[in-house]
Amino acid sequence: MTPRKIALVTGASRGIGLAVAKQLAKDGFDIWLNYHSNHQAAQKAKTEIESFGAKVTLLPFDVADKDAVHAALNPLLEKDTPYALVNNAGIRRDNLLVFMQDEDWTKVIGTILGGFHNVTKTVLAAMIRAKGGRIVNIASTAAHAPVPGQTNYSAAKAGIVGATRSLALEVAKRNILVNAVSPGFIETEMLEGLPMDKIMPLIPLHRLGKPQEVADMVSFLCSDKASYITGQAFQVNGGVAM
Ligand code: NAP
Repeated sequence: MTPRKIALVTGASRGIGLAVAKQLAKDGFDIWLNYHSNHQAAQKAKTEIESFGAKVTLLPFDVADKDAVHAALNPLLEKDTPYALVNNAGIRRDNLLVFMQDEDWTKVIGTILGGFHNVTKTVLAAMIRAKGGRIVNIASTAAHAPVPGQTNYSAAKAGIVGATRSLALEVAKRNILVNAVSPGFIETEMLEGLPMDKIMPLIPLHRLGKPQEVADMVSFLCSDKASYITGQAFQVNGGVAM
């Protein structure tokens, strides 16, 4: 029996990351499941994902903390190499720039862009040695269409799209394919507090997206069917930005 491939999914205890981890487990991957601090949610996610026959390794660390990333991943990488890496962990701290606290700028950039850098760089050398792999970075519609009050988030997500394209060029000859997925408004805890009455008229399909609808795109990009796709950003957003 061929051993199951491994997928490392960051921010996978809840929301989009959890849907991605569940779908990749159904697709035949074992899961290295990163989260930050909600141990109860992570334990529940592990039990649920294991019911699909996958082995789940829980990895609590802050993606923005390089030392913590190394401490968690390096011992695992001595034995195994993930075939797929999904950089999903992200936060938002919205405010108009004129009122934005410096900490809210650095925290969002540090988690989204710093997290991408810390985790991808740690895993990449092993992927190169394995001569293949898939990296999917979760960006956002905010990378493509401007939203007031999100200069930090839009900058980080646009950075993710740029980094996706540059890295795709760097590792194409190593058979590592790198793409981004940009969700629109997806039903998760991240949307809490947003004015839905103002948001809903902006969505041509007149509804929020489901985490599974993003997970299906990630699943495709990690599959053999996506073997000729790299350096692209795919929007899953009900038509919000075209
Ligand atoms: P969510 O429901 O708030 O879940 C966030 C997940 O990320 C949790 O598992 C959380 O772990 C983890 N996390 C947060 N900060 C972390 C850190 N520093 N290190 C490691 N893990 C961390 O978020 P979501 O809505 O699923 O969003 C997932 C991704 O999609 C994000 O990159 C977000 O920007 C992007 N996105 C979301 C939407 C949307 O409408 N929901 C739209 C566009 C893009 P803990 O529970 O332990 O904190």
